Amino acid sequence: MRKKYWQPELETAPREVIARLQLERLKETVKRVYGRVPLFRKRMDAAGISPEDVRSLDDLAKLPFTTKQDLRDTYPYGMFACDMTDVVRLHASSGTTGKQIVVGYTKNDLKTWDNLIARQLTAAQIGEDDFIQVAFGYGLFTGGLGLHGGAELVGATVIPVSTGNTARQLTIMQDFGSTALCCTPSYAMYLGESAEAAGISGKLRLRAGVFGAEPWTEEMRRQIESKLHLRAYDVYGLTEVMGPGVSYECGEQHGMHVSEDCFIVEVIDPDTGEPVPDGTYGELVFTSLTKEAFPVIRYRTRDICSITREPCACGRTFARMSKPRGRTDDMLIIRGVNVFPSQIETVLINLGYAPNYQIIVDRVNNLDVFEVKVELTEEIFDDTLSVLARREKAIADAMRSLLGIGPKITLVNPRSIERSEGKAKRVIDRRVLHD
Ligand code: ADP
Ligand code: ZN
Repeated sequence: MRKKYWQPELETAPREVIARLQLERLKETVKRVYGRVPLFRKRMDAAGISPEDVRSLDDLAKLPFTTKQDLRDTYPYGMFACDMTDVVRLHASSGTTGKQIVVGYTKNDLKTWDNLIARQLTAAQIGEDDFIQVAFGYGLFTGGLGLHGGAELVGATVIPVSTGNTARQLTIMQDFGSTALCCTPSYAMYLGESAEAAGISGKLRLRAGVFGAEPWTEEMRRQIESKLHLRAYDVYGLTEVMGPGVSYECGEQHGMHVSEDCFIVEVIDPDTGEPVPDGTYGELVFTSLTKEAFPVIRYRTRDICSITREPCACGRTFARMSKPRGRTDDMLIIRGVNVFPSQIETVLINLGYAPNYQIIVDRVNNLDVFEVKVELTEEIFDDTLSVLARREKAIADAMRSLLGIGPKITLVNPRSIERSEGKAKRVIDRRVLHD
């Protein structure tokens, strides 16, 4: 029974079969988007392409890209391709960066999503006899409800704890007999450490974990596995394309299989927009094939990845993507919160400081440490220590109210932060050193 959502007719289909299905669905999607989304129709008209010009999968390359900026410009519902009466759910990206992105789902979209999560859980050997503790956030974030739907579909007993309250998580894990855990890898790590500290890590019944929504390394996987005594699987996705479940890891754990019946994946050179060969790193681009409410055509994820279509020992023929290596833009994800250097800069300028600062992010005991060094101006250089301490607190408070997390602020002497002749290096992300 555990294999109910193993779909070999799709997951192991020969390439020609996948390609035929993709083409059929791509034509439908382009027609829908052209008819329903003014921004896209305008772009296609400007490029002199009509939906009828899509005759082969190669024609995809003629279609315009969609960017995050497009989604911001059409906020909130400008990219929706169905009547609002058919939209049964909204989700949003975290939106700490100015305007958030709003996405919608029809009943069919939710069904597809549940199915893809069920596929993922099945690949992770999680099924109806499992107790799945979903410790992703429930709410506008896609993680909680996304995993939840698929977990119910496979017939598991779902424990919708949502995120936070670590002591309670551990009590529930122990008392309810959770056998599977879904959350971000950093939270899994934290739960693992807490379980060890509480002396209960050997008493848990966990077998498998599905972790994602942020970058994590193989080293982190090993640590999570040894602390929680489970097998850890990676899951990838993004709000704009669907949410978690766009790609999923099989038992081989050599890359994540992209559900190619629902998405076309491309990897492009982020500077030229040209496709790069399989195996080469570039920017991941997705086209949705079944979505009704919020279809995306050639959505540029900014995630840097490579893909392979080499056969996988698990038998699945879906292309596999590597773990994302980073993002093309400068956004930092610190403790799960999106932080742009420009936001830091705005706060400093508003408080009367010069925009001379450096963001230092590190990972200590598996938790992100966030520090901002801010240069004193000559005028305030002579302030007393207590005044300086008050200034540091005021900056930290302003940043916390904007971002949701407060960095440690260190005021440093005027001109002590290294200048650059080219672009300023605002960010020192030491987390990559631990990878
Ligand atoms: P937000 O945009 O609000 O942070 P999302 O959940 O949409 O919320 O974030 C999606 C991004 O998270 C992806 O584009 C990618 O950068 C990152 N991400 C998601 N899953 C993974 C994963 N398994 N490994 C690495 N990065 C991931
Ligand atoms: Zn596989």
